[in-house]
Amino acid sequence: MPERIYNFSPGPATLPYEVLQEAAKDIVNFQNKGIGLIELSHRSKEFMAVTDEAENLIREIFSVPDNYKVLFLQGGASSQFFMVPMNLLGNGKKATYLNTGTWSKKAIKEAKLFGNIDVAYSSEEQSFNRVPGDDEYTVAPDSEYLYFVSNNTIYGTQFQSMPNKDSMLIADMSSDIFSRPVDVSKFGLIFAGAQKNIGPAGVTLVIIREDLLDRAGESVPTMLKYKTHADKGSMFNTPPCFAIYCVGQVMKWLKNLGGIPAIEKLNQEKAALLYEAIDSNDFYRGHAEKTSRSLMNVSFNLPTPELEAQFIAEAATMGLDGLKGHRSIGGCRASIYNAFPIEGVAKLVEFMTEFAKKNS
Ligand SMILES: *Cc1c(COP(=O)(O)O)cnc(C)c1O
Repeated sequence: MPERIYNFSPGPATLPYEVLQEAAKDIVNFQNKGIGLIELSHRSKEFMAVTDEAENLIREIFSVPDNYKVLFLQGGASSQFFMVPMNLLGNGKKATYLNTGTWSKKAIKEAKLFGNIDVAYSSEEQSFNRVPGDDEYTVAPDSEYLYFVSNNTIYGTQFQSMPNKDSMLIADMSSDIFSRPVDVSKFGLIFAGAQKNIGPAGVTLVIIREDLLDRAGESVPTMLKYKTHADKGSMFNTPPCFAIYCVGQVMKWLKNLGGIPAIEKLNQEKAALLYEAIDSNDFYRGHAEKTSRSLMNVSFNLPTPELEAQFIAEAATMGLDGLKGHRSIGGCRASIYNAFPIEGVAKLVEFMTEFAKKNS
């Protein structure tokens, strides 16, 4: 392995090294067939096999029930902000949204273009440092669905368990999909941009319950209907071939590791190390309330913005990269998704201890 830095970037984010190596080989000469992966026709049997394998591994690893479709779409997770309400709402219909950060706020703005949106909870006034428990909001009985962001990438908060309400759930799982077990049958739709936890940028994974495919009205453009893509196995038009291939490779890596139970345990260990470093030293202050803490993105502050800038710069010289917090809250953020190695977390913790000692 060449010397690799530890990449704490929130997305695009670090990928398993084996996956990069495999992709590098296949880009030039796909499975020794004398043709590069990104030169293959998306309708060739070779590429169809790539897509099928990626889909089947997702179904297996994430226990996706048979009455759900797995789609590989484009336009980023952000396009789902409007595709969800465009396909599932309409004519004065109501949906409930939980406002727990930048990504839910953007989704709410788009949803308002299509229906009657009830924002049942917001932690905006507490600078999004928490997510609600089930008893902190209600879902109106005439609400078509309850929309939430399972992990708030910027603020470092995460639903510790999925909302338990008498409503169909829809979740943006862009930054924590495949990091822990999920009962997919409680959801109407789950989506995730790939570039945090499942692959490179360019593909958005959508898992949708089949009966919802027929909800879209006549006025929804063909490309923006889930049904269009479901009917054609994500091959209505040219799909993001390379990104889908990588997702398949990441799924293989995850399966070999022991699947979701194994990665969940690792994720808990990594996050525990980091939160322990924050809690055991007054120099550091976690952004999220303890009961809302994310296992994927750890947002924290130092005593002053100057020290934060110095911390980020010094860390980078030690091969600890991408620790700058999002511009909306500043501070520092360590993104430790599935593929982030525990050795890198240990190295960061060591650096944090030293830095605090020198600068307290
Ligand atoms: C990164 C992110 C998005 C935006 O993804 P794009 O693919 O850039 O549109 C949306 N939601 C969450 C939770 C994210 O982390």
